[in-house]
Amino acid sequence: MAVGKTVNGFHPFITGGGLDGVYQVEGVHFHWGSPQTKGSEHALGGQKYDLEMHIVCKNIKFASVAEAREDPFGLAVMGVLFKGLDQEVPRSGLNEIFDRLPFLALPNTDLLIENPLKLGELMGGINPKKFYTYRGSLTTPPCSQAVTWLVFEDIVPVQSQSLQKFWHLLDVRGLPLVNNFRPLQLQNGRRVFSRKFFSER
Ligand SMILES: [Zn+2]
Repeated sequence: MAVGKTVNGFHPFITGGGLDGVYQVEGVHFHWGSPQTKGSEHALGGQKYDLEMHIVCKNIKFASVAEAREDPFGLAVMGVLFKGLDQEVPRSGLNEIFDRLPFLALPNTDLLIENPLKLGELMGGINPKKFYTYRGSLTTPPCSQAVTWLVFEDIVPVQSQSLQKFWHLLDVRGLPLVNNFRPLQLQNGRRVFSRKFFSER
């Protein structure tokens, strides 16, 4: 899989890795649990992790995400899994996001990250060539069957303090916004491939 260079003003893109066509990055979001639960939406080898980042990409054939999610090959989502650690972990571009979470505690607040963040920096130093892929759906309603999932094998360490910042975000009722993950779904005969089946492009 090739990860396109981020150029200010242009969307980074991905291609290859079993994807048919070019997919441009549309947005990034996270799923997390609570002090008692692990919040990843994927499990690797039966194990769930503390946090999962989704980088949502749209096939450039489509004008919008709304249009792309009507097509089985419309979207690709990259999933990165995080494991909370009590010790200090090296800082990465992700800290640009984690450090700002306390300023986003209230619903509907927004904040601008002034320095451009490169896609590679967001991926926390993982090896982007090692991943699992399958055809699935969005994990939030309408859960359209429009997604090629790419879930990376490398697990990114995240300092516990950063993880706790997610648990302190509040929902519209003023309650902690926790456990925003969809429970594991049945495989339903879907085939999951690991990247070794793909040739280098
Ligand atoms: Zn998601």
